[in-house]
Amino acid sequence: MLKAQETILEINLKSLKHNFEYIKSKLDGTTKFLAVVKAFAYGSDAVEVAKSLQELDVDYLAVAYVSEGVVLRDAGITKPIIVLHPQAVNFATLIDRCLEPSIYNAKVLNEFIKIASLKQQTNYPIHIKFNTGLNRLGFWESDINFIVDILKNTNSVNVISIFSHLVASEDINEREFTLAQIKTFESIVKNFITTIGYKPWIHICNTSGIFNYPEAHFDMVRCGIGLYGFGNSEKEHKTLLPIATLKTIISQIHIVEKGETVGYNRAFKSDGDIKTATLPIGHADGIGRQYGNGKGFVIIHSKRAPIVGNVCMDMIMVDITNIECKEGDEVIVFGDSLSSNARDFAKSAQTISYEIITAISQRIKRVISK
Ligand SMILES: *Cc1c(COP(=O)(O)O)cnc(C)c1O
Repeated sequence: MLKAQETILEINLKSLKHNFEYIKSKLDGTTKFLAVVKAFAYGSDAVEVAKSLQELDVDYLAVAYVSEGVVLRDAGITKPIIVLHPQAVNFATLIDRCLEPSIYNAKVLNEFIKIASLKQQTNYPIHIKFNTGLNRLGFWESDINFIVDILKNTNSVNVISIFSHLVASEDINEREFTLAQIKTFESIVKNFITTIGYKPWIHICNTSGIFNYPEAHFDMVRCGIGLYGFGNSEKEHKTLLPIATLKTIISQIHIVEKGETVGYNRAFKSDGDIKTATLPIGHADGIGRQYGNGKGFVIIHSKRAPIVGNVCMDMIMVDITNIECKEGDEVIVFGDSLSSNARDFAKSAQTISYEIITAISQRIKRVISK
C-alpha cells in the first residue's frame, strides 16, 4: 500500500474484482449482473470502477442521473447503462449518449416517447419501474393497461426490462414484508407480460437481496454496495473487501494543557494535559460535524484516536495522548481492515457505510491501486 503524504482515497481494483467474482458466484449462470456505479461509484471513482467492471465483462451498469452516464461514455464505457432517475430535461442528451432510462410514471413515459420519436428512434431501450412498497418511484400494478396502451401506439421505444426495488432486503425482521414485495412483483410481471405479449427481463434484487433472496434473482440483479465491499452479515463482512481506504497524515501536534480548549466554539475543554494531532480533512471533505466531539475516530499506528472538539471545514483534531506518533505520520480514517472499517466509522455517528463512503468529497485525490 501507498504511504500517504496528503489526504487520499485509495481505490483497490483487485478488491473490486474479488467482490465482483464473489457476488457473481452467488448467481446462477443465466442471471445478468448489473453494477450500480452511481454517485461516483459510491464515492470511489466511477470511471476507474466502470472500466474495471467492463473488463470483467459485467452485463449492465446503472447510474442515477444522465450527467453521470455522460461521464462514463466520455471515458469510453460502451456497456449498456441504465439511468435510474432521469429528468425529462436531459432526455435528448440521454438518447445522444445511448443511455437507457428508467421510466417510473406517465409523465416521464409520455415525455420520453415524444423526444424519442422527435429524434426518429425506433425500439429505443427503456426500463419500466414498478413500486412494490418503497413508495419512492414507480408505476402501480393498476397502471399496466394504461402503460401498455401507450406502448402499443408507438414504435419509438422497446421495454427491455421491468423492475422494482426492495425496501428492507438487509433486514431479517422484515422478511415477511420482503417476500410479500417479491410476490407483488411477480404478479405485476405476469400481468405485464400477458398484457404486452412478450417477456422483458425482470429484476428486483440489490446487494442484500442477492444474498438473502436467491429465489428472487430473476433475469438480472442490481449490485451496488457489495461491489464496494459491504454486505449485511458477518460472513459477508469477512468475505467482501472494502475497496476504498481513506488516508491522511498528521500536519501538526499540539500539547493542550488542563483548562485549555480545542477548536471552534471551544467545544472541547481539557481536564488534563493531553496531546492532539491536527489532520488535513474536515467537513468539506465529507467528515460531517456529527463525527466530532469524541464520536468519530481515526487509526494511527493501529490505535484509535477520537476526534476532539468540533469538526472544522478543512481539519479535524484527534486525541493522541496515548499514541506514539509524530508529524507526517500516516492516519487511516477508514479502510479495509476489520479495525478500521467504514461501517464502524459510520456507526460512530449513527449512520451507515453507504452515507460515509458516498460523502467523501471530490476534493480528495483518488489514487488507484491495480
Ligand atoms: C442504488 C440502487 C441499487 C443498489 O443498491 P445496493 O444496496 O447498493 O446494492 C439497486 N437498485 C436501485 C434502484 C438503486 O437505486
